[in-house]
Amino acid sequence: MAKVFVITGPSGVGKGTLIKELLQRVPDLELSVSATTRQPREGEVDGRDYHFLSAAQFDRRIDDEDFLEFATYSGNLYGTMRTEVERRLAEGHSVVLEIEVQGARQVRAAMRESVQVFIAPPDPSVLRERLDSRGTDAPHAIDARLEVASQEMAAQDEFAYRVVNDDLEHASDELERIVRAELGLSDG
Ligand code: ADP
Ligand code: 5GP
Repeated sequence: MAKVFVITGPSGVGKGTLIKELLQRVPDLELSVSATTRQPREGEVDGRDYHFLSAAQFDRRIDDEDFLEFATYSGNLYGTMRTEVERRLAEGHSVVLEIEVQGARQVRAAMRESVQVFIAPPDPSVLRERLDSRGTDAPHAIDARLEVASQEMAAQDEFAYRVVNDDLEHASDELERIVRAELGLSDG
């Protein structure tokens, strides 16, 4: 049975890194491409990393009820289009959503069977270090993300699973184990 996996956690914790590894390790998993009003970062490609929309385009899609969930995060809108998820499930693929906490709650309410995983840092201080080392966000944007992070950390007990991303290999193993167990797959 194809399932929806929601991966959430504060910015800089390593969600994108862990998901990239997960997609290589587990067959038949596909990442949903979100829509956002955020400006593309250097190297990001429209349709691959995000569907980059204007605020007006995003608002029209909200009115048309195109979104399974959407939320404002650090001044921009982000959302999962229903078609991204439904098409993949219909084809028999499980779907991974990399989304923030408010969106994760909306998916939980809409799809009680979704599998919800919170990725936590070994210590909150690593978030700034990782965002600095990633080098994709200006200092003021990093500050804004860290402010949101403290609220997100307070929500972690809502999630069925929690993976601490300390050692990357160890965290990847744990996430893979959770996903394989939920899909009834043998260990890789
Ligand atoms: P997120 O998607 O949660 O914002 P990223 O996956 O972009 O986070 O990771 C943020 C930065 O931290 C990246 O530069 C990434 O290479 C690094 N990173 C991810 N996991 C670890 C880890 N376990 N130890 C050290 N650095 C990590
Ligand atoms: P970033 O700007 O770093 O790509 O993403 C910022 C935050 O938005 C991250 O926590 C990311 O997981 C979240 N995000 C990305 N896509 C979506 C989405 O479709 N919906 C929601 N609610 N959050 C998203």
